[in-house]
Amino acid sequence: MARSVGLYKTPAELRAMVRPGLVTAAALAAVRARIAVGISTLELDAIAESVIRGAGGVPNFALEPGYHHTICASINDAVVHGVPTDRKIEAGDIVSIDCGADVDGWNGDAAFTVVVPDSSRPELVAARQRLSETTETSLWAGIAAFATATRLNEIGGAVEDAIAAVGDFGILEDYTGHGIGRSMHEEPSVFNYRVRGGSTKIRAGLVLAIEPMVTLGTIETHVLADDWTIATDDGSDAAHWEHSVARHADGIWVLTAEDGGAAGLAPFGIVPVPVR
Ligand code: MG
Ligand code: MG
Repeated sequence: MARSVGLYKTPAELRAMVRPGLVTAAALAAVRARIAVGISTLELDAIAESVIRGAGGVPNFALEPGYHHTICASINDAVVHGVPTDRKIEAGDIVSIDCGADVDGWNGDAAFTVVVPDSSRPELVAARQRLSETTETSLWAGIAAFATATRLNEIGGAVEDAIAAVGDFGILEDYTGHGIGRSMHEEPSVFNYRVRGGSTKIRAGLVLAIEPMVTLGTIETHVLADDWTIATDDGSDAAHWEHSVARHADGIWVLTAEDGGAAGLAPFGIVPVPVR
């Protein structure tokens, strides 16, 4: 895959990232609408693929060497990189769907988590719901920080603080967010917690995939026999939320949100500004 020319994109490059962001959002919305007891993750994968190809894009996950699917579907103790199978969604499952589109050589990348209703296990569902909501809140806190931050480390700090404000959760350290552009994964790494040392300067043109991965227990993980799925060592549940976000001369715009992030950023008093 071609590398982007630089860490900070030009206005024209940012404009080229609008479409892949929206196609990614549309694919995830289509999957989300179909998540219910009895549907398999392979069926969800086909839904996402048809949306992306129908929009003239290419599923960028399938461009990763050795990966042959459009989405990652990570259920319960799987955190990220879950491979779609004929395993059907069950009541009470906590399901994270990650997906990306390449449109005309530019990439989008986003993820959400849902908890499938299960009236027979209200406590389990409530705990999983709290995990997902905390992770989503921390994502928006990180995006809000990106709007005003001067150093990358402020984003991780905001994510970490938002999670710690709710309770004791595990924040994965072996996997991080990333820059995005011509390639789905570019520099810099975007940690979901404060790190020491030098930190990338934030200024117009930076596009980041911010993606907290949070568990109800340990942060230690292992790779399953399928060579992809990352699961918690202690079997604790996990959640994953992600957006691709552009910082530009006039503000930020969440490329993978239909509304540019207006709803998610409202609690932070930030109004996203479209990329022009
Ligand atoms: Mg992703
Ligand atoms: Mg990502």
